[in-house]
Formats: sequence, C-alpha cells, structure tokens
Amino acid sequence: KRGAGVDVEISRAQVPKPIWQLAEEVGLLPQELEAYGRSKAKVGLALLARLRHQPNGKYVLVAGITPTPLGEGKSTVTIGLVQALSAHLKLNSFACLRQPSQGPTFGVKGGAAGGGYAQVIPMEEFNLHLTGDIHAITAANNLVAAAVDARILHEATQSDKALYRRLVPTINGVRRFSAIQLRRLQRLGINKSDPGALTPEEVSSFVRLDIDPAKVTWQRVIDTNDRFLRKVTIGQAPTEKGHSRQTQFDIAVASEIMAILALADGLADMKARLGRMVVGSSRSGQPVTADDLGVTGALAVLMKDAVKPTLMQSLEGTPVFVHAGPFANIAHGNSSILADRLALKLVGEEGYVVTEAGFGADIGMEKFFNVKCRASGLRPDVVVLVATVRALKMHGGGPSVTAGLPLPREYTEENLKLVSEGCSNLKKQIEIAHLFGVPVVVALNIFKTDTQAEIDLVCRVAQASGAEAAVPCHHWARGGRGSVDLARAVKEAAAWENGFRFLYSLQTPIAEKIRTIAQKVYGADDIELSPEAQAKIDYYNQQGYDTLPICMAKTHLSLSHIPDKKGVPTGFILPIRDIRASIGAGFIYPLVGTMSTMPGLPTRPCFYDVDLDPATEEISGLF
Ligand code: ADP
Repeated sequence: KRGAGVDVEISRAQVPKPIWQLAEEVGLLPQELEAYGRSKAKVGLALLARLRHQPNGKYVLVAGITPTPLGEGKSTVTIGLVQALSAHLKLNSFACLRQPSQGPTFGVKGGAAGGGYAQVIPMEEFNLHLTGDIHAITAANNLVAAAVDARILHEATQSDKALYRRLVPTINGVRRFSAIQLRRLQRLGINKSDPGALTPEEVSSFVRLDIDPAKVTWQRVIDTNDRFLRKVTIGQAPTEKGHSRQTQFDIAVASEIMAILALADGLADMKARLGRMVVGSSRSGQPVTADDLGVTGALAVLMKDAVKPTLMQSLEGTPVFVHAGPFANIAHGNSSILADRLALKLVGEEGYVVTEAGFGADIGMEKFFNVKCRASGLRPDVVVLVATVRALKMHGGGPSVTAGLPLPREYTEENLKLVSEGCSNLKKQIEIAHLFGVPVVVALNIFKTDTQAEIDLVCRVAQASGAEAAVPCHHWARGGRGSVDLARAVKEAAAWENGFRFLYSLQTPIAEKIRTIAQKVYGADDIELSPEAQAKIDYYNQQGYDTLPICMAKTHLSLSHIPDKKGVPTGFILPIRDIRASIGAGFIYPLVGTMSTMPGLPTRPCFYDVDLDPATEEISGLF
C-alpha cells in the first residue's frame, strides 16, 4: 500500500551487503572505489580505460505508455528485471537509474527507489542526499548566478581601466592573462598575450561582457519544492542599489549543469560543456558564456566528484548505478551516459545493462534515442515498454485519478471494455519504439486488482500490435522471481538483428526537426510556431546552434500537448510557444505550453509522514 511506509519497511528488512563486497563481485578493484559509508560508493572513471578492450553488454531501455499521475512502475520494472537477470538467470546485470530530486520526495511524489520487492536499498539514502551530487550541482549553478549579477554590478560601477587592473592583476610585478582569459581574447579575435599590448578599445571589449540584465537566462536553483521562489526580486540591499531585478529559482535538477552531468563522457568533456553554457546575452545580442565569466575551472572543481557514478544495490543484492537526474520536461530525463558506459563494460559481452527513461515513451524514450544515444554513440538492443491495466483503463475513458485519493471503482473492478479501448495508447507507443528500429517487449506491471481476463487481453493486444513479446510482471509482490519471464523475453529479443536509427538528421532545419517529432511521435497534424519561437530559430541559426538535437518540453500526461486528451489524440496542431537552448548540454528545447521548473508543495505534503527516531536513527514515512 503506497503512502503507508511499506516500501521503507521492506527496504529496511534487508541488510545490504557491504558495498566493498558488491564492488568485488562486479569486478571492481579496491582503488576504483570511494566508499561513502557502508552501502554507497563512487566509482572512478579510470575504470573505463582499464576495461577499454572489454566488449559491451546488451543495452536495455525501460520506457512506458502514457502514465497516470501515479506513475506506472518503470523503476520497479527496471529493478525487478535486473534482479531476475542476475539472481535468477545468473546473467551479469546492472541497473542504471536517475538520482531522485529531494523536492518531490517531501512534496507529492515520494521517493523513486522503485517499490515493493523491487527496490534500491537503503532507500532512505537513495532518496535523500546520496553522495551529494545534487548539492554539488546546486553550488556550481549558484556560483554562476552570483558571478553574473556581481559582474553586471562591477561593470556598471567601474571604468575600463579599473576593471582591467582588477581582472588582470599585477602579481610579483608582472601582469599576466590566465588561461581562461586568453580563451576569451581568442573568441574576441584579439591575438595578443601581452596585457600591455591591448589598445583601449580592445581593453574595453575584453573587460565588458555588457550583460543585458533583461536577457539573463541563468536562474538560481534549490532542491526544494518552494513555489514562492518562482518569481523573486534580487539585489534589494542598499549595497546593490539600482541593480535589483526580477528572476526565479528552479528546482536543482532543472539546472543545465544536471543535464551536462548526464550527457558528459568524462571530466574533460564536462569541463568543456560547462564553459560553453550560455548565461544570457550582451546588449548587442552576443551570447555570454560561463567561460566569459571566468568560472569554468571553479565549476569543474565543484563537480569533480559528482562526475563519478554511485554504486548501490537492489533488494536482492544486484548492482545499481545511480547517477544524474535531469528534469524530464525541460531536459532529457535520463540517467548518465557515464554510468551506462561503466556498467556496459562491467557486465561484459553476455551481460545486460537496464536503464530507464523518464515519462512516457513519446518523451523519455524519444529523447533517450535522439539526444542521449546520439551523444554517447551507444545503441540500444531492446525497449521494455511498461504498461498497467489502470493506465490503459484511463486511456479507455476511465475517470481521472489523483495521487493521494482512493482509485475510482473502474480501476479496482474488472472492466474489459475500458482496457480494450485504452490499448490504443499501448499500440501507438509500440509503433513509436519501432520507428527507431528497436524490438519491444511489453512488461505488464501487475497490481493485485488486475484480473486474469484483463491481463490476457493486454498481452494479446500488445502482440497483435507488433510487440516482440508481452509478459505479466509480478516483481512488485515477488521480487526478481516475479520477473523471470520478462528477463527471458528480453534476452530473446536482445539476440535479434536490430536496425536502430535516429528519427531525424542533425542537419535538418530546426523547425523541420520539431515537426518530425510532432507528427511521427505525437501524431500531430502540424506544428504552429509563435513569433517568439520563430525569432529564436532565426537567432540560433545565426549563432550556429541549428545542428543541435531537439529536447521537447511537453506534458507527459498525453501524447498531445493537452494533458486531458488520453488514448491517441488526433487532429491537433502542436503549438510551440517558445524555444530555448542549453548550449553546454547540447540541445535546443521547444516549449509546448507552459512548463513549471519549480514544483510547489500541496496542502498535505509527504513530509507529514516523515519522522526520525532519535534513539535508533531510524527514518519512517519515506516511501
Ligand atoms: P515510475 O518509475 O513509472 O514513475 P515507480 O516504479 O516509481 O513508477 O512506481 C510508482 C509507485 O507505484 C511506487 O510507489 C511503487 O511502489 C508503486 N507500484 C509500482 N508497481 C506496483 C505494483 N505492481 N503494485 C503496487 N504498487 C506498485
């Protein structure tokens, strides 16, 4: 029963094996491990070099049909599947999961460690601070924000000469540019390394980023659902007089730095991406980057440990990497490339790495292929598409469901008509996966109210719709042994010839890339670009950003842009309200409707149930 702390009880009933034991079992050397207590450890990236000749294992993506607001069990299926592969079929396997954001843990959603007998343990550590990566991202993100506003202030109050004296100080009688300053000079086309040789005009363009306060796109972040930070005024103390401006806080996982962590292929690549992040533009319309602010090296220092994935374990003692958790709407919602890479080497050629894409397949899976796989060069072998009877009933016309409220009767009693009608969404999501040329295994996540007739119906429709297999999964109630059939089906599908392909070429113009996703994946008739969106396309073309992949920011509750339209909506035009770019992460994100980047707290947040027993240090109420 969700919300009653059952997951935390199951989690606590199983004592995790010491992390160094698990590390040895998966083939890690002691020097590759940095333990954080007994049950978590970071794994150094040097492992990639040591195992560079090792062939990769099979790469499995867990995606889902369009979900209800309750979630349909992608995380539990992921854990159930690796438990079945490792503990029951004796095949090496690794799960690679996102690190959950603490905001929703205390807000409406609760934890994200999976559930029932398919969990990552200890779930409290998984759901709370873990190894501090989100804190590191918060620190790095807010250092950039502080640098932006301080720079605006200093430029406004100092002459070119004074700025130059401070930015290029004399140390031991010598004035020298730092490496990051030489890079800036190069970008400005000033090929001089002697600080004394710059003309006054060159000094001026060097010292003045001339950031337009109205065009700062970088926001501050915090890992708390704090709706009152959605719009704030900063700079109200007398010391910053005249420099107050309106800005906003986003939830920490919406930071571009989180998306970079997820897409980077090593420390050097992460540093280069951090430097390329665009924080706003100058009054003359030129992009201003983190490198221009001189902050790149400091960001890399703050992020140097976060770049290493964290090793944990499932309830059945199988290995799990937890690494990165970019917001699934304005970013790509997938865990890190580095964790997948390390895991693919560790499991070896006969092994399996199972990772999960946030939201429904129309969003998470599409971005997994077009954004993540494009960046990593890795090719998926199988898609596991998670469906539930309850979500299919909703697509078939069942009443809406709300987190925290009891499910209406339609969802707890047999209703073959609703299931049958709702299977249209399952069929469409199977077709979407096939657009990419990857075999699909449907995992029907069984709830105790599902009837045999409903289960048989879904499996029949899934197979008739082209799924390579469709299997009922009982991992939530039974752990790995409840997912053995799924594991066998995945193994079989992974052996098939696979014709993976991207949906669009990067050379295709921006609007055409968006149109392709809208029509082929969402089923829209066309797209409609607002004047703002069109202006952004023109600007991005001019800046040379037009060959980046697209990361759609659309609701996950419908294939269309209207959350209430269930099943397979048709006859709609997808409105593109605005377009933004994450240049460091390396994607362009069109906004379909309004996207909140700061969740709020409900009247009765999850924190009401969370408590600590000071005598035992036991946590209760997380689920
Ligand atoms: P997703 O990853 O798709 O958001 P989760 O795996 O996190 O979904 O599951 C959402 C919630 O539903 C979790 O609290 C989980 O414990 C619960 N849940 C998932 N599968 C089942 C099931 N078969 N029976 C009962 N509860 C389940």
